[in-house]
This record gives sequence, C-alpha cells and structure tokens, in this order.
Amino acid sequence: ADKRECDLNEELANIVTLLSAQARTGGVTLELERGALPPVVADPGKLHQAFMNILLNAIQASSQGGKVRVATTLGRDGRIEVRFTDEGSGISAEALAKIFEPFFTTKGSGTGLGLSITKKIIEGHGGTLEVQSEPGRGTTFLVALPLSP
Ligand code: ADP
Ligand code: MG
Repeated sequence: ADKRECDLNEELANIVTLLSAQARTGGVTLELERGALPPVVADPGKLHQAFMNILLNAIQASSQGGKVRVATTLGRDGRIEVRFTDEGSGISAEALAKIFEPFFTTKGSGTGLGLSITKKIIEGHGGTLEVQSEPGRGTTFLVALPLSP
C-alpha cells in the first residue's frame, strides 16, 4: 500500500525508544547495533508493527537482568538483515512448530496474533522471517528484507 524509502536503523531506534520504559520496568536492557544500510522500499507503518511485535515478545520473554539486542546488517545477498536476540525463556520444540499460527499463545492473556501478522508483513515485503531458539537460553528472530519488494 503505502511504500516509500525507509531508513530501518531510524525506524528501529524509534521503536527501541518507545519500548525503553517498559524494558526498564522489567529490568531488561535494550541494545541497538546499527550496521550501515541503504534505504529500503517498504510500508513504514507495517514494518513498525512487525518489529514492535518481535521486540515486545522478546522483552516479555526476558527476566530481570536480561539483554535484548537488535542488530542490523547488509547481507551478502544484498538483503537487509535484522536480528532480534534475547536471553529469555526460549521456545520449546513443540511450541516452535506453532508460533506463526494465528491464536497460538503460551501467555495467560496473549492474543497469539503478533507473530502471524508479523510473518505476513515480512513476506508481503518479499522478505523472510526465521527463528532459532534454545529453551532456557534464549531466542533469535531473523528478518531478511530485499531493498525493494
Ligand atoms: P502472543 O505474544 O500474544 O502470545 P505472538 O504471536 O506474538 O502471540 O507469539 C506467540 C507465542 O510465541 C508466544 O505466546 C510465545 O510462546 C512465543 N514467543 C514469541 N516470541 C518469543 C520469544 N522471544 N521468546 C520466547 N517465546 C516467544
Ligand atoms: Mg506477541
């Protein structure tokens, strides 16, 4: 819909600022490591929503003293990569098979919609969303986006 040139580092910095109070309340440190990126043609409102969903989950999965790191890089294939790494609860193999399904949640008051929407948004931009997790150690979500869809 509303596609234009976006600076993903700036977009992510805004999101980190928006979520910093919530992170601080939970004793969680947020870090943004910005690689040099060319602009990406994207719908900024949609990407905002996608990144918020991933980062909120990461903060919610973390405990006091935990760190959540967001890092951007330009991949060798010319796609932009954004990694969200937390040191939280991790995801069991059983749950991992379902986290992108609508309404799957392990939270008492979760909607289970965040990641299904996020995956649609990323794929709608011609990108991919991957997850790696180790229960008890943490989780990494990798978003890869082409420079234009
Ligand atoms: P909700 O946050 O409402 O539960 P989501 O679609 O955002 O729905 O996430 C689905 C489920 O995936 C969560 O309930 C949780 O079990 C799991 N999950 C997502 N991100 C993480 C994470 N960073 N660490 C641990 N579990 C996660
Ligand atoms: Mg969520």
